[in-house]
This record gives sequence, C-alpha cells and structure tokens, in this order.
Amino acid sequence: MNFVLENIIRENVKKLVPYSSARSEYFGEKSVFLDANENPFNTGFNRYPDPYQRKLKKKIAQLKSVSPEKIFLGNGSDEIIDLLFRAFCEPGQGKAYILPPTYGMYEVASAINNVDVIRIPLTPDFQVDTKTVLKQISSTEVGVGGSLLFICSPNNPTGNAVEKQVIELLLQNFKGLVVLDEAYIDFSPQKSAVSLLDKYPNLVILQTFSKAWGMAGIRLGMGFCSEEIVQVLNKIKPPYNVNEITQEKAMESFSKPARKEQAVQQILMQRKMLEMELSQLPMIQKVFPSDANFLLVKTTNADAIYRLLKTKKIIVRNRSNLPLCENCLRITVGTEQETKLLIKTLKAFSNEKGIIS
Ligand SMILES: *Cc1c(COP(=O)(O)O)cnc(C)c1O
Repeated sequence: MNFVLENIIRENVKKLVPYSSARSEYFGEKSVFLDANENPFNTGFNRYPDPYQRKLKKKIAQLKSVSPEKIFLGNGSDEIIDLLFRAFCEPGQGKAYILPPTYGMYEVASAINNVDVIRIPLTPDFQVDTKTVLKQISSTEVGVGGSLLFICSPNNPTGNAVEKQVIELLLQNFKGLVVLDEAYIDFSPQKSAVSLLDKYPNLVILQTFSKAWGMAGIRLGMGFCSEEIVQVLNKIKPPYNVNEITQEKAMESFSKPARKEQAVQQILMQRKMLEMELSQLPMIQKVFPSDANFLLVKTTNADAIYRLLKTKKIIVRNRSNLPLCENCLRITVGTEQETKLLIKTLKAFSNEKGIIS
C-alpha cells in the first residue's frame, strides 16, 4: 500500500494561504515587540503565546521519544479530531470509519463537517471485526474526498485495548488516515504505538492531558504524526489555539512526574477494588475487563440504576443506548471514598422494585 498524503488533503487547504500571526514570524526573546498591538505593561499574560508551543513540544518530545516536529498540540484532543476532518475530509464526499461502541466525538465531528460515517460494530466481546473492516476500507477509492479511520485503544466505553497486530493490519490496508486515540494509554499494560510512526505515514496518534495527567481543565491534547501532517494542521489551526496559561500549567505538571505516576497507580488499585465489589452485587451481571480508568458494567436495569444514583447525587454514564451496550453503565474509577459510597449506595438499592426482578 502506498500512502500519498497529497491525495487526501482537501483542495481548499492545499491552496490556502494561512494567517501569519505577528508572533509566528519572529521567535527570539527579549525584544522590543511593537508588532502585535499588545499592551506593553506586564500582567504576566500581556503577550500572545507561542503559536507553535516550542518549549512545551520539546519537553513532550523527550517524554514520549518522538521528535518535536512530529507533535501537534490542540485545545484538547477534540480540537485535533475536528482539524483532521477539516484538513482531510471533503464535506459531502469524505468518509469516516468508526468501530462502535466507541467515543462519541468521532461521530459528532463527522456530522459537523458533513462527512458520511461508516459504522463497523465491534464483535459482541468488543474486539475489532477485522475481516469486515478490511472489506469495507478496501472499497475506499484514494483521493475521493479523503477518509479517516478511528481506532480507540483502550476503547471508550468498552475499556479494552486493541491488539497491536490488528492496528498494524489496518494501517497497512487503509489508504486514508488511521487515527489511533490513546486517551487512556497510561492506564493500560499495552504500550503506546508511537514507535510505529516512522513505519506508517498514515498514522495519527492522539493522547491527552485530560485523563492520567489529571489536567482536563487546561484543555491540552497531543497529536503524534508525520511532520507533513503536522504542517497541514498548522496551516488551518487557529493561530493561538493553545493558550499561555495552558502551556505554563502543562510545563508545571512535567516538573512533578511523580504526581501523575502516583495517581495512575492509585486509580489502578481502586479499579481492582471497584471491580471486586461491583461483581458481587446482584444488579451487576458483568464487569467487562478494563485497561482504562473506568469500568463498563452490564446491569439488570441501567436506566433505573442510573436514575436512582442520580437522586443520591452520584453521576455515572448511562451507555445503554449504544450498540452492544444494552443495560450498560460506564463508571469512572474515583477515590477510595467515592468507591465506598457508590458500593454502599448500590447495596441499598438491592431491595428497590425493578432493579433485580
Ligand atoms: C476523554 C477522551 C478524550 C480526551 O479529549 P480531550 O479533548 O483531550 O479532553 C479523547 N478521546 C477519548 C476516547 C476520550 O475518552
């Protein structure tokens, strides 16, 4: 399979002359900046941020063992998902392949960008239906509107990771971009696929500060891909999409690597505890294996349990309307106290009518 990026870049994007921000033309420090109509008096944030987040990328590059040129940062990974559509899927012509049940934003971003979605459900035990996916993607013509294939590993909401061989097989056989969403990779025994970047020019890996790093509030998403893809995304992104406070806070969290490691360890321990406790409750029929910081559970009556928990101000995610997720709830792993409260509350529901019929 020979992948040609040029074939899937939208024509208008190819032709686009990007906005050149004042600050993207000069990168030196300690200068007299009279170019951007900023306020000269120091508030700590009177200057525009670095549009290419160079300091931050250098740090992330060390941490992830990828070169800084292969990193794109966004206002959450959700922004990167949207930018991928805007760069590589022609509205009304492009295609997005998704493997439901999976993360809802892929489908929302497709809809916003008027791109058709082709859904290839996972098998009942939440594995990629490789044969059907291969059949579907091989029917895609190169250069007709562009196409994206989303693989989420570990997958939200099912929690399981996708085997590396499956990911590689799809990369080898897809002529569009494979977007591998690794939002939960830090909780998984499986390693990140960043080492595959040099082998597959059609691979885009997404990671985020929102989960293991504990920084959902700063909105920082990471994309790892070829330098060429980074350049296309740079062309169309809002010039200052990652603000100064976010860049500083992210640098700060890198200076405390133990905080993240400890959090991940504690969450994994709590997940074990939660799994054990849940599996003993009469209203829980199955706890699906998880490589992430949440558990998908099959219950006797998801709607009723969800509603009852809400009356006790405990909010979980009702996923029972998703394909293959009938009567399923997705429960994030919280603190020890939160686990205890949840279990205590669920135990008290055991006698409610309709929960265990
Ligand atoms: C939480 C999550 C994200 C993170 O999105 P951000 O915009 O970076 O907060 C991305 N993908 C999946 C599958 C997620 O569950």
